[in-house]
Amino acid sequence: MEKIKKIFLTILRDKKTSRPEFRKTAHTLSEILAHEAMLHFDTEQFDIETPMAKTVGTKLKPSIILVPILRAGITMVEPFLHYFKDAKIGVVGLKRDEKTAQAHWYYENIPPIEKNTKIIILDPMIATGGTGIEVLKKLKEKGVKQEDILFASIVCSPEGIEIIKSQFPNITILTAAVDEKLNKDKFIIPGLGDFGDRYFGTEWN
Ligand code: URA
Repeated sequence: MEKIKKIFLTILRDKKTSRPEFRKTAHTLSEILAHEAMLHFDTEQFDIETPMAKTVGTKLKPSIILVPILRAGITMVEPFLHYFKDAKIGVVGLKRDEKTAQAHWYYENIPPIEKNTKIIILDPMIATGGTGIEVLKKLKEKGVKQEDILFASIVCSPEGIEIIKSQFPNITILTAAVDEKLNKDKFIIPGLGDFGDRYFGTEWN
């Protein structure tokens, strides 16, 4: 998987990559992370019938809630639904105050958490980790155990991973790359620029 991730990530990183190609590649990498996520969950067997005979099928045991963080997280929803077709979706939105660096909630709509729920947080870039921590705090308030949370992110900064892991050591982070560092504007270096702008077409050619 690591080799495949590197090849697709190179396309995302390249500033010459067109918007259609950027979107397609982001979806492919999200599917690779969804594949890895699925490997973390228990399965159970159940009886099915093919047109020819009775046999035993396999399905996921837990019920899954995808939690995309607005805006860029929504780009990962559809690829994850290819793997977790029954997943519920809890959308969250936070905006960072430029002056205080404080994250403010402007949207939160998470489906009820049940005993066998596993959460997959979706955000293609973990930069400072600040937003992720707020979402993890909210899930904790709702009674979700860290062991039941996966965080899927295409590119992470080492600083972001470190701060999240220092406060939530038992969550699992799935990623295609942990890059070198954050710059002074909190962009990931080498990174891929602003993911949302490149995907949605805002402030990018
Ligand atoms: N968000 C992005 O889209 N890119 C970065 O480099 C950091 C945060």
